[in-house]
Amino acid sequence: MADKPIHILGAGLSGLSAAIVLANAGKEVHVYDVRKDSGARFDGDFQGIENWTSSPDFFDEMRSWGIDPDSFKSDSFSIVDLAHPDDVITQPKTDGIAFRVVERGTDEHCIDQGLKKLALEAGATIHYDTRKNPQECNIIAAGPKDSSAIAFGEIFYTDHPNHVTLQLNDKLAPGAYSYLIIIDGVGLICTCLWRKQKRSSRYLNETIAWYEENYELNRRPIKRVGGKGDFSLPEKYVHEGRYYVGEAGGLQDFMWGFGMRYAITSGALAAQSILGEYNYEVEIRKRLVPLVKSSAINRFLLNRVGDRGFKLAARYWMWDQKRKGDGLAFMRWLYAPSIFRNLLWPIAKLSMLRRKRLDDGRFVNRMPFRKALKRDNWEPSIEAVEIGKQWDKVRKSGANTSFTESDT
Ligand SMILES: Cc1cc2nc3c(=O)[nH]c(=O)nc-3n(C[C@H](O)[C@H](O)[C@H](O)COP(=O)(O)OP(=O)(O)OC[C@H]3O[C@@H](n4cnc5c(N)ncnc54)[C@H](O)[C@@H]3O)c2cc1C
Repeated sequence: MADKPIHILGAGLSGLSAAIVLANAGKEVHVYDVRKDSGARFDGDFQGIENWTSSPDFFDEMRSWGIDPDSFKSDSFSIVDLAHPDDVITQPKTDGIAFRVVERGTDEHCIDQGLKKLALEAGATIHYDTRKNPQECNIIAAGPKDSSAIAFGEIFYTDHPNHVTLQLNDKLAPGAYSYLIIIDGVGLICTCLWRKQKRSSRYLNETIAWYEENYELNRRPIKRVGGKGDFSLPEKYVHEGRYYVGEAGGLQDFMWGFGMRYAITSGALAAQSILGEYNYEVEIRKRLVPLVKSSAINRFLLNRVGDRGFKLAARYWMWDQKRKGDGLAFMRWLYAPSIFRNLLWPIAKLSMLRRKRLDDGRFVNRMPFRKALKRDNWEPSIEAVEIGKQWDKVRKSGANTSFTESDT
């Protein structure tokens, strides 16, 4: 690949990260995306970049790859509200930065646009609205393909100050969690469904009702957003000479879906491997696969519990914080590979993942979207019904829904 142009499929986080590193090293780089712009897969939703899966601060890591985190807006958090399943709210906190909230989308301050700007400045050419044969590409960065889980959210204006809540609640977010993020007068309430549901919007309406009851939001809806996550571990990360990065390479957090850090890291590592600094297959297996496997084992355990298990986890988290004086220690422990988790891996793999052959000939061990349980059948509250009606009105007056049940 010495002097040949490098072709990258997908101008999202992983593809653009690879493009920045390669173009900065003087390579001719072409990036192809089926959508009209980077970030168009999302629509102004807030996402958190975690700072707990490895010890260097992630923004320092990005700088070491030549990816300037000042190219997009981010807000750091060291404290969150943790809403337990019985509605008790406690506060995990740390002295440093636990995570940063960024916006996804096509506005100038979004992370997607920041990385796009860096790639263009470095000399990469981006071809939007363009289909390219994956076999003609060196790096595949096309994001998720199938659905193993989905997230639905509403974006709204609010008077509430900047804030983040993470809620563990198996009724409102089956098998998963919901969250509230508020940045500079704009809020997002999102619920994640790790079990497939009919009429999924009732989960979002009920979740919004919960947050309205617990926080002074003065919520004025703007739009509804969402997306899918694909959880599958491939057997190889380099296939027929092509490097698979980000979610296209199965580099996603099975437990909670914090995939952005893995996407940027794998894009940078693939680029550095093409430049001769690493062997991608070896490096990914050393640095990211153990984390992804830990998250898959945690997911396997979470799939076995309901609110009682969530309550135990929330209490343990707070007990651990009291003992160690740092709420982030629990998150580091949760994601760290360990002998106990490794012992569980064969059972988790066998019972949770299904081997599948993809169109490009790769084999992956994929987590199918789980079926709904009996307890997922419930009638919405009066408050949730009203929230649904309010949204119908806002939608009819022209508000946008960028993700619907049919997108799954
Ligand atoms: C609702 C939601 C909330 C999330 N919240 C968080 C969070 O809080 N924290 C976190 O870390 N992660 C979060 N994630 C996950 C995170 O967004 C992804 O893991 C991350 O964006 C993956 O990056 P990527 O480069 O693999 O894919 P993307 O950033 O999605 O980029 C893929 C690109 O490929 C393009 N593409 C697709 N198919 C083709 C094709 N055939 N040809 C050319 N281009 C193609 C797409 O248009 C897109 O631009 C969330 C995901 C969703 C859906």
